Amino acid sequence: MIKGIYGDPGYKLLMHIIEHGYVAEELLTHDTGIKSNEGRKILQKMSEENIVIPGKLRTQEGVLHIWKLNPPALKNLLLQRLRKTREKLVLRLNFEEENILYECPQCGRRYTLDEAYANDYVCPVDDEILVEADKSKTVEVLKELISKVDNLIKRLERV
Ligand SMILES: [Zn+2]
Repeated sequence: MIKGIYGDPGYKLLMHIIEHGYVAEELLTHDTGIKSNEGRKILQKMSEENIVIPGKLRTQEGVLHIWKLNPPALKNLLLQRLRKTREKLVLRLNFEEENILYECPQCGRRYTLDEAYANDYVCPVDDEILVEADKSKTVEVLKELISKVDNLIKRLERV
């Protein structure tokens, strides 16, 4: 999910912070392999969401400007995303359960009853005759996904 929000470098960066407790701006590229301007941009975005907080670390070589994790904010962000994902899945599921759907055996496109009727039950893309879609598989998959998301939410809420 972090990859979806901040991309691969963001994921790498966050994993580094989680593993080491912090990342230092001065050692960003050295420690993570991410270009420093790219890494700074991601850290900037993360700090706007409060996921990371800035700090300073005195070392023998001087003062390092570091970013530390702010776990409660990360948890909230993840929960927010998960709840949004859940809402979308439930909408999808309701749509599947409440509508008669048609499907093209050729290209797999799906149509509502109204759309199928308007096209004389023929796929406008390839002239194939539409058949009523078997929704059981899709419904099953959606229900599984929703329960997976529910589990993630429950686990995160307990952290
Ligand atoms: Zn088709």
